[in-house]
Amino acid sequence: MSRRLDDFKQYLEKMQQYEHVITLLNWDIWTKTPKLGQAAHIDALTHFSAEKFAMSTAEELGDMLDGLAAPEEYNALDDTWRFIVRRMKRDFDRNRRIPSDLYESFVRAKAESGAAWEEAKKASDFSVYAPHLQKMIDMQREVTGYTDPGREVYDAMLDEFEEGMDSADIDRLFEDLKRELIPLIQKISAVEQPEDERFQKYADVDAQKQVQWMLLDYIGFRRDAGAVDETEHPFTLSFSTMDVRVANHYYEHDPLSAIFSAIHEGGHGIFDQNVNPAYDQTVAGSCCYMGIHESQSRFYENILGRNKNFWIPVYDKLGELLPQFREISLDDFYREINHVKSSFIRTDADELTYCFHIILRYEMEKAIFRGHVPVEELPALWNKKMQEYLRITPENDREGILQDIHWSDASFGYFPSYLLGSIYDGMYLEAMEKEMEPVDELLAEGRISEITKWLNEKIHWYGSTRKLKEVIQAVCGREVSAQPLIRYFKKKYTEIYGL
Ligand SMILES: [Zn+2]
Repeated sequence: MSRRLDDFKQYLEKMQQYEHVITLLNWDIWTKTPKLGQAAHIDALTHFSAEKFAMSTAEELGDMLDGLAAPEEYNALDDTWRFIVRRMKRDFDRNRRIPSDLYESFVRAKAESGAAWEEAKKASDFSVYAPHLQKMIDMQREVTGYTDPGREVYDAMLDEFEEGMDSADIDRLFEDLKRELIPLIQKISAVEQPEDERFQKYADVDAQKQVQWMLLDYIGFRRDAGAVDETEHPFTLSFSTMDVRVANHYYEHDPLSAIFSAIHEGGHGIFDQNVNPAYDQTVAGSCCYMGIHESQSRFYENILGRNKNFWIPVYDKLGELLPQFREISLDDFYREINHVKSSFIRTDADELTYCFHIILRYEMEKAIFRGHVPVEELPALWNKKMQEYLRITPENDREGILQDIHWSDASFGYFPSYLLGSIYDGMYLEAMEKEMEPVDELLAEGRISEITKWLNEKIHWYGSTRKLKEVIQAVCGREVSAQPLIRYFKKKYTEIYGL
């Protein structure tokens, strides 16, 4: 190993120590820290983020990257280290353009904005959060001006989450969905569907936590490299393949919410646990392309979790832990978890109307960054679009514009990833069924581990080293298309609703 590569690895190890503390602080802030303790945590988070940022933009690192990127040394590297050098050099060049005081105040403002969002959501009062949202929009604009000079702001932000997919690609895919799915949802809405109150019966929170572990074990989330905790808005965080954390939220009268969040976050977790461990502690690790990450969580949640066959091997266990399910037949359960109905909360939406929760947010983000719609007009625009796509209007901001955490830390451009994830899922499902037995059979026979293995080998193992279009080409042998997802929806819901 060259002397420089050796030095570079040592440098990365040191940076990794900061990253580790940052991850731990974030985990703690979102799960355990009491309200009065938040400020000290935010101070510490700001400090360590600034230290890490200083290291990631230091002259010393730049010199090492330049040396390693020079042909003679670069050619001597293996593929993994070539990727790491390329990726870090790109990030270095971008980050170096951000003034460090701007970076530091952005980190602090994000943490404060997160806290204000939580307050505002609790009080259902958008005005508490509006100035912070405005700050996030302005600061993100400013930062993007440095990282991607001359580039259209929203496209640059989309690229952060799904490199290589711009709004022209996304417009094309989402327009296909709109054209095909709006009529399908209208047909379904014409079918009479009484509410089934058995699903709102009291469900003990400890029992829900046991159900969560039962499901995580079943889908293949490893306990020896995983942990769970409670939070307001479910999420997954990972330190490495050896330590992946899932946080969930439990409602006493809606156990299905935590069940599907557990499967969703478990899908993220399985991804992170199964990346090539040689990538741990480097930029090659845990996949940084959010659409690919969401494609995995959503594959487990929807393609598998909302398939009746998924439940055949575990439905009795569910009834043992939460007795109300003993009185519900699997057919009724299946019907309920695929109950298509316009609703306000994205994370509780069925997989079909969910598409429009995302299309709405995507169009809102375009309105913010391209249309320059003022912050105070956003709640009304939100409500107008809810009416247009789902024909309902939220009664308050908590069930409208305040429901999601994403904008509170300036993650603009993230939302489309969820729906892109589903679009990729339709493609994976078709590819999988060409290579293996039908997913229905594998699930019914309790062979979900074979599905997980397929995903491990085809997708998870590569971590961040392949971009979306490369993954799709390698796994599906074709370009990205919404048609497989549309076919999946039409087949499934025509059957369920007898259309
Ligand atoms: Zn997710």
